[in-house]
Amino acid sequence: MKARLQALGDVLLGSERRLRIRSARCLLACALMAYSVASLGYFVAVGLAERGPVLALALLGVGGMLLFYAAIRSGASERLRDPSLTIAQMSFALLVGALAYTLAGRGRGAVFPIMMVVLMFGLYSLTPRQVRLMSALALALFGAAMALMAWRNPRVYRPEVEFAHFLVIAIILPAVSMLAGQLGQLRDALKRQKAELREALARNQALAQRDELTGLANRRHMAALIEAERMRSERSGARFCLAVLDIDRFKRINDSHGHPTGDYVLKVFAAEALAAIREADVLARWGGEEFMLMLPDAGLTAARLGLERLRTRVEGLRVAHEGRELAFTVSAGLVEVSPDETLVEAIARADRALYQAKQQGRNKVVADARSP
Ligand code: GH3
Ligand code: MG
Ligand code: MG
Repeated sequence: MKARLQALGDVLLGSERRLRIRSARCLLACALMAYSVASLGYFVAVGLAERGPVLALALLGVGGMLLFYAAIRSGASERLRDPSLTIAQMSFALLVGALAYTLAGRGRGAVFPIMMVVLMFGLYSLTPRQVRLMSALALALFGAAMALMAWRNPRVYRPEVEFAHFLVIAIILPAVSMLAGQLGQLRDALKRQKAELREALARNQALAQRDELTGLANRRHMAALIEAERMRSERSGARFCLAVLDIDRFKRINDSHGHPTGDYVLKVFAAEALAAIREADVLARWGGEEFMLMLPDAGLTAARLGLERLRTRVEGLRVAHEGRELAFTVSAGLVEVSPDETLVEAIARADRALYQAKQQGRNKVVADARSP
């Protein structure tokens, strides 16, 4: 049952989201038109209107709306600036409404509020200027209908009554335009706020993933990236390595040059390390003066080469800060993540390898080939 309804929906409305919305709105307008002209049947039944003209108007109204539906549903309207044909649909409905007014005779008082319904269709999608235009058109069409009938059939359409009707729509329509203007401003403000929020959210997200001092990925973001790489490698069978890097005797740099120089060294290290690694590698600040490097699609040998390149580059650096020059080195513990160990285990292995590098005198890369 549900599947059948879905299939019917697809046939009537199409499958693309925007097309569905447009088609559904147009079908609703068709239904309203059919309902309105059908109610004119009541006028005929109680002798307020003549059958022939009402039937003709019914055919015109429903037929016209179905043509709009066909143009929208077939996608033919897509080439136009407004594919939902809102203005055209509204103008047509207003015209049918004004014609109905001329046919409804003594029942006409029940007809002209229908133009409010038509205008309401435009309130959400038209610009305030377009709503003003539609209001003016409604005023012109109904005004013309009133004048015409007061002139042609003054016995039923008594001129003083027509004038009173005209006064009423001349109050209603500007009020509608004004409301539409306010609604339009509200809509614009909402749109702007939404864009601002989206931007702020994106900025926040980017900030939340970065380490403030070095601009590298922070620990939390890196953990997620490693997790993702793990899943990718499980699917594809690609190998990948992790390395923990730690600046040697960093405490000494702080102690003898001051904390700001220490910070500066961290920044320089981040920039130099980034320049030394491959594009696909990811470097993150893991904490303090400790960094994590992920090397996707790399086995231990290739990763080791990369790390050696990084280590030598750092070794050769001379950092000038506040009139003094200093050199520093880095040690690293490297592992290839094995499919049958957890990430926590792999990182613990890298930590142990780093410890060995420190034990062996620092400025070293120690790779831990996993013992089975
Ligand atoms: P090792 O060679 O064994 O790694 O010696 P180390 O001095 O680098 O090791 P230790 O872990 O004892 O010292 C790390 C120091 O890094 C201690 C801490 O004050 C300093 N540190 C941590 N984070 C920062 C930071 O953001 N800025 C600065 N300037 N110093 C930091
Ligand atoms: Mg440390
Ligand atoms: Mg250290």
